[in-house]
Amino acid sequence: MSKVPGVGPALAARLAGKGFVTVADFLLAVPFRYEDRSRYARVSELAWGQPATLLVRFGATNAVRMRRGTLKVEALADDGSGAVRIVWHNRYPSFWQAVESGKAAAIYGTPVAGPRGEMRIENPETEFFEAGEESDPLHSGRVVPIYHRAADVSPRRWRTLVRRTLDALSPDFTAAAASAREVARGLEGVHFPADPGEAARSRRILVEEELFVLAARIEEKRRRLEQRPGRKLVADEALRREAGAALPFRLTAAQRRAVREIAADLGSGRAMARLLQGDVGSGKTVVAALALLLAARNRTQGALMAPTEVLAEQHAETLARLLGGAGVRLALLTGRVRGAARKALLAALESGAVDVLVGTHALVETPVRFRRLSLVVVDEQHRFGVAHRARLFRKGESPHVLVMTATPIPRSLAWTIYGELDVSILDEKPPGRVAVTTRVREESARGRIYAFAAERVAAGERVYVIVPAIDEGERDIAATRETAARVAALAPGARVGVLHGRLPPAERARVLGDFAAGRIGILVSTTVVEVGVDVPEATFMVIENAESFGLAQLHQLRGRVGRSRRRSWCALVVGSNATAEARERLEILEKTADGFAIAEKDLETRGPGDLLGTRQSGLPPLSIADPVRDLARLAEARRLVRERVEKGGAVESDLFRYP
Ligand code: ADP
Ligand code: MG
Repeated sequence: MSKVPGVGPALAARLAGKGFVTVADFLLAVPFRYEDRSRYARVSELAWGQPATLLVRFGATNAVRMRRGTLKVEALADDGSGAVRIVWHNRYPSFWQAVESGKAAAIYGTPVAGPRGEMRIENPETEFFEAGEESDPLHSGRVVPIYHRAADVSPRRWRTLVRRTLDALSPDFTAAAASAREVARGLEGVHFPADPGEAARSRRILVEEELFVLAARIEEKRRRLEQRPGRKLVADEALRREAGAALPFRLTAAQRRAVREIAADLGSGRAMARLLQGDVGSGKTVVAALALLLAARNRTQGALMAPTEVLAEQHAETLARLLGGAGVRLALLTGRVRGAARKALLAALESGAVDVLVGTHALVETPVRFRRLSLVVVDEQHRFGVAHRARLFRKGESPHVLVMTATPIPRSLAWTIYGELDVSILDEKPPGRVAVTTRVREESARGRIYAFAAERVAAGERVYVIVPAIDEGERDIAATRETAARVAALAPGARVGVLHGRLPPAERARVLGDFAAGRIGILVSTTVVEVGVDVPEATFMVIENAESFGLAQLHQLRGRVGRSRRRSWCALVVGSNATAEARERLEILEKTADGFAIAEKDLETRGPGDLLGTRQSGLPPLSIADPVRDLARLAEARRLVRERVEKGGAVESDLFRYP
């Protein structure tokens, strides 16, 4: 940034501290709104509740000291047509000085009623002009860009710096290719539009450029993965028969299709990089099991990685049931396996005495060495970081990789995050499944809800009660205990167990075992059961404070019931201080069981970070494009990139760069 005229080393350092390192960083910080100062509103025309921009001078100023040395500043703003009271909270003395100085200012705010019913404006955005500057064409008399404030730079200074940066940049750009000229036009128009229409058009130019570069990056990753050689794993007729015999049920058509696609990848000689997307309960595990069987039968090793120990343990059991009979040698590696046992396991793995290893992410860590690792399956991929995924592809001699995710996401988002992967989709559930009857309930209905829970248990079924996890710490332990006590009182006769992230692993396994076997009838748990836990007898789930969850997560939780032919129910209990919108949002779950539709809704209302979990969204840092509204056009961008690459053209951008 120090190349920009007017930016000295001190300011450059301050800007860098806020992430504005390059000129591009600076220019891509586009205005979050525009103010039409080509015509200011008049104080005499102010209307209640209608935001307006005024050009005023302040009089009758007054300041009151607030906490931490800040001031509450009051003044009358006058523009000749009338005066209106302004109140600013939490301001510094320098601000008060400016108010007092008699300088002209542009203010933007919304008139509201003061304590005595009089009209006032609270905390308006305020921009002071130096003497004679009111008519400066950069800050006035036009549509003016308003930026998020950063590094303590005043709005006017920021605008001036953007202007200078654009002026310094243009000659380079205009000398370059037509596409760069287009981008320069976009930048000019997004920062200093002649009218709101130009701002919108210019933003679209930049969005397109950004999507194009994003698409180019995805294609490049994809090409790199396509070039990885992979061990040829062949499925012969005997193996097919063996697989058929090992399964306790017939595969769904979707499962058969996925297995075929995976087998084709494994036999191709190139390393597989595939995503298996399927709603909760669509039967992804068995698809993975068959792929692992194929790896084992080719005298190579496979690994299955799960995000939690609970899930890893359960997968180990499932695989033992499905593959144990076929003589596949399984092992489980979690943080719990320590000391001599761990040493022995690692040695067995390295000597090839283990065919399939199930574990948590401990599994990708370096000291784990395989003899002939050929296939890695990652379950609930969205719970792992992107870095983990990258590390996987480097493990061993480029193993085949299958990632599975149960947070179905719209295709455009899947492309953005998993764009380098081929995709198989399980769009069908095993037969006989009934939809989970879902109802949004008030806290006052708890008596009836838990009486119903007691009935389910008496009928030999199982009930989950979910409490929101706060930090998987002390507070959660208290919350689960408290809820458990209440549940025990409301559902007499049912044995109540408690599960949370702080339970020692052995204890956790015991509780889950008791629940699966029916020794515990009602399990009060934090969201540790969210992913993958499979107890078919569970038919009723109560989710307390349901409003604090995202829809996709609730859907995922709800997937813990409805896992057999029995009727199943889910009660979403909303807290007494939940908003009407929150309640309405939850009602979507009453209406649909389609994970894709639910995810889409979540994406609209809460954004991708929420949908995909806070741990990682895997989303590239989009500067301008909106990950919800604009990503839909990514397909078009990918087509353009392929076209250009096929013609041997370069795909570069001076503006958008990704790490
Ligand atoms: P998810 O896709 O959520 O990981 P799971 O793999 O845990 O789903 O499968 C959910 C349940 O459905 C398991 O109990 C599993 O045994 C069962 N299942 C899977 N495939 C079939 C099938 N084709 N027919 C009947 N039951 C199946
Ligand atoms: Mg699963």
